[in-house]
Amino acid sequence: MLKVKFCLPRSVRIKLNSTCQYNCKFCHQEGNSSAQEVNQDEVVACLKKFKKELFFYRAHYTGGEPTLYRNLISLIKKTKKIGIINSITSNGQFDPSLLPKLKDAGLDSINFSIHSLEKFSFLKLQNHKMNIKDGSTWAQNCIDLAVSNVINAEKLLNTKINCVVGDEFSSAEDILLFCTKNNIKLRLLNDLSLGERSLQTINFILKKSEANLIGHEVTLISSSHRLDYQLNEKYIFGVKCIRNFYLKSLCDGCQIRKEGKCYEGFYGIRLEGNPLKVRLCLYRNGSPFVQKLNDFFKSRQYRELKKDTEDVRQYLLKDDIIEEQKTNLKK
Ligand code: SF4
Repeated sequence: MLKVKFCLPRSVRIKLNSTCQYNCKFCHQEGNSSAQEVNQDEVVACLKKFKKELFFYRAHYTGGEPTLYRNLISLIKKTKKIGIINSITSNGQFDPSLLPKLKDAGLDSINFSIHSLEKFSFLKLQNHKMNIKDGSTWAQNCIDLAVSNVINAEKLLNTKINCVVGDEFSSAEDILLFCTKNNIKLRLLNDLSLGERSLQTINFILKKSEANLIGHEVTLISSSHRLDYQLNEKYIFGVKCIRNFYLKSLCDGCQIRKEGKCYEGFYGIRLEGNPLKVRLCLYRNGSPFVQKLNDFFKSRQYRELKKDTEDVRQYLLKDDIIEEQKTNLKK
């Protein structure tokens, strides 16, 4: 019988910047497409507090494109010193010489956002104004650079491809094949804006490839969960899913939720901007959905998160806890 594993949220998503070389149609920019670059010292101080009070021990850097954040190396060095496990999600459009520098600074893992390996499908995912000739040359160059950085990263760091699945299956299927062949970790994600259509495509791929469900990990106090599938009794890949989970002090009575337009629910804590702010909702702005740090630590949402975290921690410590949290959840 399939055993479901439970864990506490371990990671804070930090939007370092808003700039990116791509302009993907489905990109939610972590809820804010114009947030300023964060101040690295503010981020370090905040992570220290979250680590102590909410048991977060991972920082997940996003953007924009986080490799365009000019203080990335220095930030990773600083967070490493306070015991944080660092990962980034990148589009792979960086100079290959950056990889060893990131590893030396203390980067633990890198997720590449790659959604197609074919130039015209890639271009279809972009809001672009190029003519087809220039566009296809640009797309091919982007794909080549990303793939070459994936292959190099795999030799240095924990490396994974994140592939957002839209309503056509062949792009994700190509990526699944590439990852199986090169033994690179893969996570399929549904396009939140497409709702059911994207989930149907993922189901179609799973069926077509005869993948077997072998694991299920649920993150408590979050809408996030992951299903693990196995191919050919060898290769394992994940499908990241969203379940209905809402923070009471944030989501009760929410109109967007009532209208069925909240596709993410309460996912977790995001940090953004300068001065640093906490974002709790992908779709809404203003307090309490986005709060100044000082306000957040005094807020109902923080109290609810702290209490739930402590309750779940006590429960998990008695129960079968995932390996990674065995030490991290003990005070
Ligand atoms: S839109 Fe935001 S506030 Fe409303 S239910 Fe979703 S996560 Fe909660």
